[in-house]
Amino acid sequence: MDTEIIKIADSGDLSEADDAKLRAAGEIVRQGGLVAFPTETVYGLGGDALNKESSHKIYAAKGRPSDNPLIVHICEFEDIYPIVREVPEDAKRIAQAFWPGPLTMILPKSDKVPSETTGGLDTVAVRMPAHPVAQRLIAYSGGYVAAPSANTSGKPSPTVAKYVVEDMHGKIDVIIDGGEVGIGLESTIIDLTVSPPMVLRPGYITREKLAEVLGQVESDVTILREDSGQAPKAPGMKYRHYAPKGELTIVQGEARKVMEYINDCSAEDREAGQRVGVIATAEMKEHYCADVVKSVGSRKDEESIARHLYTILREFDDEGVTRIYSEGFVAEGFGQAIMNRLLKAAGHSVVELK
Ligand code: AMP
Ligand code: MG
Repeated sequence: MDTEIIKIADSGDLSEADDAKLRAAGEIVRQGGLVAFPTETVYGLGGDALNKESSHKIYAAKGRPSDNPLIVHICEFEDIYPIVREVPEDAKRIAQAFWPGPLTMILPKSDKVPSETTGGLDTVAVRMPAHPVAQRLIAYSGGYVAAPSANTSGKPSPTVAKYVVEDMHGKIDVIIDGGEVGIGLESTIIDLTVSPPMVLRPGYITREKLAEVLGQVESDVTILREDSGQAPKAPGMKYRHYAPKGELTIVQGEARKVMEYINDCSAEDREAGQRVGVIATAEMKEHYCADVVKSVGSRKDEESIARHLYTILREFDDEGVTRIYSEGFVAEGFGQAIMNRLLKAAGHSVVELK
């Protein structure tokens, strides 16, 4: 398949020419095609959420297991009504507080949503993204766009179009290049079909922020632990995810000890012929000795760490890194989302230094 790559202004200030391109891309979605596009979280791979053939195509392009449901993206709050059986007060309140934005709600689905889109579940995940390109594309696509992250299943989600091209070229109709995304980690998912509501996947909108609006909010115990003996409540969270090609270990502890431990391992691994990469904070970067040392951002700036994490994992792949060590982060607030993704990328390989 020929894949057309369309460049759109990074600023989000859409010109008339950009608008025409998005209109044409929306028409492709309406006709059952697939279009990758930027959102404020990561790049999405969009198809018509109400067309089961489009959902099949999304699973095929990503190599995604078909029991892993897709998030339905809308651009107007009112559009939620036809696709769910009821809109609880809690949904209205968090939509008021956080939509458009990086928050996905799980609600009971209506018959309008094919079970192919929801991986066979009778609930549906709904999000209203804030990115102007995403909003306009959804409107031109008929209002309901199923869009998982635009990566091959298992790989880190793309935060720049280059990595969408790497994974999806030849498999989908259009890739819209809107520059680097803002947040860099996927949306928070909250399940509103249970009481109290439960965060299934942590993200930029933290459990604490949701609790300010909803009162009590719980978190799925599997978010940071794999030994809980339970399956994650979001089906997709059970799969190995966000994984670079190199084997990744997280090293937790006091900064100097972490640095010494990683440098020792690095020396040994390089001796054994490995190409070693380190994910460092800006504060510690200069102190590491490895083949490739990358700063993920300042420890004081979690937003920068989130924005750079997936790109760094992809860059290590590009640079042939076979063994990766990462500093650990405090799993509180937005840091919980960072550690959740990092733990999955590492297959929960963690060294705790006392
Ligand atoms: P992605 O599209 O790559 O951001 O992944 C979407 C995530 O949402 C996956 O972890 C899915 O399992 C989860 N998800 C989508 N729909 C539902 C649903 N109805 N119930 C629970 N989790 C869902
Ligand atoms: Mg994904």
